[in-house]
Amino acid sequence: MSAIERPTGVRPVGVVLSLLEDLYLDLHAHPELSGREERTASVIAERLRVLGVEVTANVGGTGVVGVIENGSGPTVMIRSELDALPVHEQTALSYASTVQGVMHACGHDLHLVGLVGAAELLVRSERTWRGTVVIVAQPAEETLSGAAALLADGLYTRWPVPDVALAQHVVPLPVGVVAHGPSTTWSSAQFRADLATEPTHSAISGPGFDLVGRLGLLDALVRDTAVKQGATGGLYALHTGTCANVTPATATALGSVRAPALATVDAVLADVRSQLAELGAVRAEMTVTGSAPAVAVDSELMSDLVSEHTRAFGRGRVWTDYISYAADDFSLYGTEFLPDGSRVRLGYWMFGGIDPRTWRAARDDGSVVPANHSDRFTPELTSLRAAVVAMTTAARSQLVSHRDADPEGTTP
Ligand SMILES: [Zn+2]
Repeated sequence: MSAIERPTGVRPVGVVLSLLEDLYLDLHAHPELSGREERTASVIAERLRVLGVEVTANVGGTGVVGVIENGSGPTVMIRSELDALPVHEQTALSYASTVQGVMHACGHDLHLVGLVGAAELLVRSERTWRGTVVIVAQPAEETLSGAAALLADGLYTRWPVPDVALAQHVVPLPVGVVAHGPSTTWSSAQFRADLATEPTHSAISGPGFDLVGRLGLLDALVRDTAVKQGATGGLYALHTGTCANVTPATATALGSVRAPALATVDAVLADVRSQLAELGAVRAEMTVTGSAPAVAVDSELMSDLVSEHTRAFGRGRVWTDYISYAADDFSLYGTEFLPDGSRVRLGYWMFGGIDPRTWRAARDDGSVVPANHSDRFTPELTSLRAAVVAMTTAARSQLVSHRDADPEGTTP
């Protein structure tokens, strides 16, 4: 047991949730970009310290690691991401982003609430379970670089090594739906391409000087090469040029490639790289800035979690065949070999954040509900409860049950 005093008084789930709503509104209004999540990290660290959790900050950059030691039993790691996206929020929410050009457009603020809520409910019900919980708030998921940074900073050597690691992601499904599946993510790599040539007057420029045209060719090259290998990809951010009559000397493109297997992603990138010279720029270089394989979930663990979530959310609300092409570097927590040659077993699921009526109406009339990474992505506040319940019940199911009953009513 930790020497730190922990709150033990009765605080029913409803009270916990109302305090978590304040946390969500605050996090949503103050998003921070990948690797720069100082404020977000300190808010989360403080919320965990108040619970009596032993907290270490600045792990792998801005990462936060908390530990609840509660007797002998399995070690369960629960993880959320800290970062937001360079998106200018276009919702009319009263708690919309106050930071120009930055938005929690992927729902990581919601995952953080799930993380802190699970920590609080576990602390407040600690007489009913035994084991160790490692709480991880990870930076830089959107750039697929934060999980690697945490592991490199000793996540599995400085803190108890988890038996299982759990994470979840909000998706544009109805609130109350929990979506499992054998293939809820794809492998992905992000890259940066730098092109350069001699600048000149637009009146005398030939094809070799036309970097804007080269970027178009590069985009087509990435897309075609990817499609041929069963992958998808392209350029998604371009930076070049200054005015209407000077040809640009340099251009930078950011892009990504996704496929079921990371080996395919790597093969596509190698293929593209080998053809860069044919673009006709004076200089063309490509750098991979982050990559992660698909999340390889443990099937036995997942069948446990499907049972737990069915108990908590109800039959018919837990889908088991959900497919998505999103990527999450959570996968890396399960690819690292431990000293004994084993690997951490991963559990991962999605949960709905959209008002069920909005979702049904969109399905019926064929329209599109703003999804993750949209500047109008708007998870419902009612999905906070789903985030907390899905994570708490999943974590509880992997710890040792100390008593059958929970007299304080702190188990959701
Ligand atoms: Zn995202």
